[in-house]
Amino acid sequence: MKFLGKNIRFGKSLSERDQEVIWHPLTQHKTAASLKAIKKAKGVWLEDEDGNRYIDGIASWYTSMYGHCNPKIRKAVSKQMEKLDQIVFSGFTHEPAVELAEKLLEILPHNQAKLFFNDNGSTATEVGMKMALQYHHNKGNKRNVMMALEEGFHGDTFGAMSVSGLSVYNGAFEEHFIEVIRLPKPVGYNNEEVLKLLKAWIEEYDIAGFIYEPLVQGAAAMKTYSKAGLEDILKLCKLNDIICIADEVMTGFGKTGKNFASQYLQVSPDVLCLSKALSAGMVPMGITSCTQKIYDAFYDDDVSKGLFHGHTYTGNPLACAAALASIKLLQSDEIQQQIKDIISWHQSFATQLKQHPKVAEVRQIGVILAVDLAVKMERYGNLRNELYQFFMDRGVFLRPLGNTIYILAPYVIQKEEMQQIYDAILACLEEVIH
Ligand SMILES: *Cc1c(COP(=O)(O)O)cnc(C)c1O
Repeated sequence: MKFLGKNIRFGKSLSERDQEVIWHPLTQHKTAASLKAIKKAKGVWLEDEDGNRYIDGIASWYTSMYGHCNPKIRKAVSKQMEKLDQIVFSGFTHEPAVELAEKLLEILPHNQAKLFFNDNGSTATEVGMKMALQYHHNKGNKRNVMMALEEGFHGDTFGAMSVSGLSVYNGAFEEHFIEVIRLPKPVGYNNEEVLKLLKAWIEEYDIAGFIYEPLVQGAAAMKTYSKAGLEDILKLCKLNDIICIADEVMTGFGKTGKNFASQYLQVSPDVLCLSKALSAGMVPMGITSCTQKIYDAFYDDDVSKGLFHGHTYTGNPLACAAALASIKLLQSDEIQQQIKDIISWHQSFATQLKQHPKVAEVRQIGVILAVDLAVKMERYGNLRNELYQFFMDRGVFLRPLGNTIYILAPYVIQKEEMQQIYDAILACLEEVIH
């Protein structure tokens, strides 16, 4: 039987075998097209099982910023692999974790003091919220409401889902959400209004914490908003001991042009959430950093005042080694120069796009470029799939959202490769958008 089983499998493509046994994330399998199998990846290039190559225009959800299978990161992980692979992080510590924490504190906003390790972005924000809620609990404050921005995205676990504002898919769970109030985004003309609303809410609700994606909301299709408006909100939150949680899972590690988007702001967050590019797509990892003030609220003779949260793979030494090697790369002259170059290429392309009649809006911050197409809402339904296929046929992997196409390519991308992405976007304006 076993032999027969193997024979049956023989001759089927990976996609066919996949369909029989795998349930994919964010996928309605009844209507989804069969999935392409990627065999290998190197630098900005992905290669499928038929040998077709694609530029990874979104760095595999903004993780592989130093290129896929980066030799320096690979070397660091494989060296670590020979020494220590995994260890219970509750009761033990190890060199890569300590070194990573020290290194991160050098580059994070300077008010950050302690790092809490976990293994993905959702749990990084989940821990951030637990820090805020328990901070007040430990102090004897009655504060149980979280505040978030409209259209924010913070992950898929229950707490993270609760504060996320893009809730179309959350219907089955909404009754179980934590209590959240959702502040409109300050976009300039409404800054005063938002601030007035916040003042009223501070009187009305017991707000424990405020979670936000600083300056740019990734999953909302790279929507930017007012820096001054955010600063005003943060100042008012700080005055009222509302814990400010910056979700930098997407923006962290250079994407906005600075190491962290929070570094554009005068007010630093109390808590900061990291993942994605943190470990460069090599090994999963998340980290939640906080100030001494937060840490001190948990530091007590009373055991129950501690933060009782921990995942089995917390502080995994291989992930720490990958993260350390990534930060070293981020700080290298080569990557810093690449970031500058990409920003200037994007700026010229944005100028060109802004004059195009089929473009409604162009947003650029750091190495992130987003283009809103001038199409009617009725077209949104199919547009995404059409665009996706159009780009794949031209050797470019992008994941359009609604009427938005965005680029967030690995820092190591070369000018001709970026031009291939630009050309595909220009071609789509001519051929797909009518
Ligand atoms: C991706 C993302 C998350 C969730 O991270 P996962 O690792 O997918 O759980 C949270 N916040 C932001 C801003 C993100 O972009």
